[in-house]
Amino acid sequence: MKRVADRLVIAGVGLIGGSLALALRARGVVGEVIGLGRSAENLRVARRRGIIDRTERDPERAGRGVDLVLVAVPVQAIAPVLGTLVAGLPANAVVTDAGSVKGPVVAAAERVLGESAGRFCGSHPIAGTEHSGAAAALVDLLEGRRCILTPGALTTSPTRRRVHALWEAAGMRVEEMPARAHDRVFALVSHLPHVAAYALVNAVADADRAGPRRALAYAAGGFKDWTRIAASSPEMWRDICLANRDEVLAAIDGFGAAVERLRVAIAQGDGAALMAELTRAQSTRRRLGTAPATKAPRLRARRGARRSRGR
Ligand code: NAP
Repeated sequence: MKRVADRLVIAGVGLIGGSLALALRARGVVGEVIGLGRSAENLRVARRRGIIDRTERDPERAGRGVDLVLVAVPVQAIAPVLGTLVAGLPANAVVTDAGSVKGPVVAAAERVLGESAGRFCGSHPIAGTEHSGAAAALVDLLEGRRCILTPGALTTSPTRRRVHALWEAAGMRVEEMPARAHDRVFALVSHLPHVAAYALVNAVADADRAGPRRALAYAAGGFKDWTRIAASSPEMWRDICLANRDEVLAAIDGFGAAVERLRVAIAQGDGAALMAELTRAQSTRRRLGTAPATKAPRLRARRGARRSRGR
């Protein structure tokens, strides 16, 4: 397979940045990988696990001589982090990100890059777990999963091709989508489920405080399956909710209306209405099929032996 980068900088060597580096290294399609980050401890883990070759504390120096940059930090930090790197970047360096929100991220990245905005193409790899940091990175996390690219009007064709090749080299199925369409779709199928899972956990914990017996002590498959994603990074999800505010609010409103239809049917003892709502959801869900297969990670992560996949 062809090399995708001679020197790659990963700003934010966490679950996504770390997993991409592991996948590229396993396939031998990347030269040197430089890690840029916030805490020295996470970068030490990345180094120890062989995710990166070296770390660089000074962002401007990190950018020198690189031909590809991935910014994989929480969404609101993407443009500011890119801003610290940009002065050191050679003219031929291509830049992408991994943010779960695209419209505002692409716009902010283009503002930061100014005249060289053609070198940027937004990405969102549709893969993940509820774990964070370099310790959670998995060599096959991205394999066989979708990656959505959201090239802007300024993105050049060579940039687009390089970013396609980057994710494809990690085994991903790449497709393109306008950033606005992306943000609406993922507000519904990713951001809303996370908000709902966090809310469900809090609702049950709050009710628990009032009750004589701890309900959470009896939480089993249904509760744990639905709320697994509420163990995700609050920092990451704060940023996603705020960056995609309007779409997330619209999704929450739609969800609220659906819950209210169920509440009214239950309150009125309206079995027919309840059956109609439940049957419609059952057939929609069954048409979706099962979640993507979860393969055992080939590289053992530092924390936790078993990890669930999928967003
Ligand atoms: P993560 O595991 O928490 O990794 C993020 C890394 O960024 C951390 O190692 C963190 O360093 C570093 N970081 C945070 N703020 C920083 C800053 N201001 N400057 C420099 N480094 C900073 O998160 P992730 O899951 O990989 O997510 C990264 C990006 O991918 C996010 O934009 C997210 O929306 C997107 N994404 C996530 C998933 C998912 O399922 N997790 C899926 C697709 C896309 P420290 O460890 O030192 O704090």
